[in-house]
Order: sequence, then C-alpha cells, then structure tokens
Amino acid sequence: MVSKRCPNCGHQMQEFRELTEKEKEQARPHVPKHVSESSLLRCTNKNCRRWQQRGNYQVGGTLPPPE
Ligand SMILES: [Zn+2]
Repeated sequence: MVSKRCPNCGHQMQEFRELTEKEKEQARPHVPKHVSESSLLRCTNKNCRRWQQRGNYQVGGTLPPPE
C-alpha cells in the first residue's frame, strides 16, 4: 500500500491500495479517457470510498455505497 493525500478524508495522508475488478467497473464511467485504470488507487480508511489516480489526487471520485 501507498500513502496518498485523500480529499474525502480531510486531505490527510491515508493508505491506498489498487482497485478490485468490481471497483474498476464502478469507477469506469467516471474515469477520464486519458487515465489508465491500472493507475487507480482507493483509500483504505474505515468508511472512505475514495478512488483516485496515482500521482494526481485531483482525478478521482467516490465509489457507490456497498449493497
Ligand atoms: Zn479517504
């Protein structure tokens, strides 16, 4: 895991991991065309569902709530 700034967590540093296949599907409609899915990370902080591009926290969004 890697430490990244998370806008959803008050811009604090959080641990991020790569997305699962399901998470990639959920994020896909919101990922800009020039951004590779393999560069996406998600926040592992308790209830946070933030995903964002590695190296550019301004490209990102929030995954839908769990079913
Ligand atoms: Zn977060």
